[in-house]
Amino acid sequence: MKEVRLRFAPSPTGYLHIGGLRTALYNYLFAKNNGGKFILRIEDTDQGRFVEGALESLIESLEWAGIEYDEGVYIENGEIVQKGEYGPYIQSQRLDIYRKYVDELIEKGYAYYCFCSKDRLDAVREEQKIKGVVPKYDGLCRNISKEEAEERIANGEEYVVRLKLPRDYDITFTDLVRGNITINSDDSDDQVLLKSDGYPTYHMAVVVDDHLMNITHVVRGEEWVSSTPKHVYLYEAFGWEKPVYVHLPTVLNKTRQKLSKRHGDVSVGDFKNKGYLPEGLVNYLALVGWSPESNEEILKMNDLIEQFTFDRVSKTGGIFDNQKLDWVNAHYMRELPIEELTELSIPYFEEAGLMDRNFVEANTEWVHLLLSTIQESLHKLSEIPEKTKFVFSDDFKIEDEEALEVLKGEDVLKVLEAIESELNNVDNLDLEYAKGFMKTIQTATGVKGKNLYMPSRVALTGEIHGPEFVNILVLLGKEKILNRIDVVKKNYL
Ligand code: GLU
Repeated sequence: MKEVRLRFAPSPTGYLHIGGLRTALYNYLFAKNNGGKFILRIEDTDQGRFVEGALESLIESLEWAGIEYDEGVYIENGEIVQKGEYGPYIQSQRLDIYRKYVDELIEKGYAYYCFCSKDRLDAVREEQKIKGVVPKYDGLCRNISKEEAEERIANGEEYVVRLKLPRDYDITFTDLVRGNITINSDDSDDQVLLKSDGYPTYHMAVVVDDHLMNITHVVRGEEWVSSTPKHVYLYEAFGWEKPVYVHLPTVLNKTRQKLSKRHGDVSVGDFKNKGYLPEGLVNYLALVGWSPESNEEILKMNDLIEQFTFDRVSKTGGIFDNQKLDWVNAHYMRELPIEELTELSIPYFEEAGLMDRNFVEANTEWVHLLLSTIQESLHKLSEIPEKTKFVFSDDFKIEDEEALEVLKGEDVLKVLEAIESELNNVDNLDLEYAKGFMKTIQTATGVKGKNLYMPSRVALTGEIHGPEFVNILVLLGKEKILNRIDVVKKNYL
């Protein structure tokens, strides 16, 4: 049987969009599910849209997400390298190849030279607009003879090469998600295949490359559905076997609009910076527009590979729900080994000005305790500063109404003073000691339960809810606790 080969073929025009990551992911999952190959090809034939650094950031995002490819373009030691038997995998390095196939099309009568100037094309389009017809090339150069064309080229006239679509011709292809699609050639355009700068257009390059690279399945966003008939016609013109097509529904936000920069985060980098883990983002993203037969929701990459099929991809747009993403990501946050959580948290601590790497390295045990104290409650890394700030603030204030209410209780002063005098007797407030601490206070004061714990928690953290009290004692340490009790006595009792 033929080897299954899929490709992700982004244009390096900016950051990797979250929808692009999902396209890459589905390609990868299907390839791996079928024991096939996944390829990264760079489609940079639109030189005007090239963005410096986009290629690097794209590759970095795929790597971060854990989507590995078998062939294509890589970055190694800061250099762009290519691996695989079907290279080059960067289209701008394949210009001779495209030229050869464009010539073949002209030779066979499937393409023609067009000498129309931009001004003429603009005027035609303007007129069509006024008439209310869909703007497209009017075919003026379709019948220029080969001899005339060659002469005009020899005279230095600028030209492009266009696809010569037959008139009123039905082009049909099958899409694995959408079924059979037929489009009449009259609703399509005589697409430019070769531009005046000698570069092919996307439409020409994509067909030639998918064929030469033995791509079996073309899986891409639904915005390409309307271009597919032109591609299919090119396969027919060359006499090549066409790939299987899959057009994926667009990723939408909750109001069913396309995810766009204006409506929040859209790039993979944005999600990374927000503190989502690659496992969480990939797991959630797989579920935007696809569901496994098992209906499971927590699926690691291997589970996704095992369960992925195109027949469970939805025809309509997948809705991207940030809350659901948080829920999935929280699962992976809880699974993180404490050393890894610590490492990942450092940039967030640094940005919030709470502590730096040196401090973390000098106080590893304390930081581990701090993070394990809040780990269960985390959805993403960016929540760490907010959830840990109670141990840092020197300027201790209580603002919560309910907390202030607690301090009006009868035994508050008694409890706080007992804490003070007990602490004055210890040097080392470690976990072992902290475990028995409240029992000691209970014995000393005769106060227990809520009346004992609530005022203690409020006086130490300013909040009525929070993490494990024993951990709070150790994390704050003797000095900070005494200071805070001092502040509470002075300002709030
Ligand atoms: N270069 C196209 C893009 O960036 C690829 C489309 C396709 O996969 O055929 O969307």
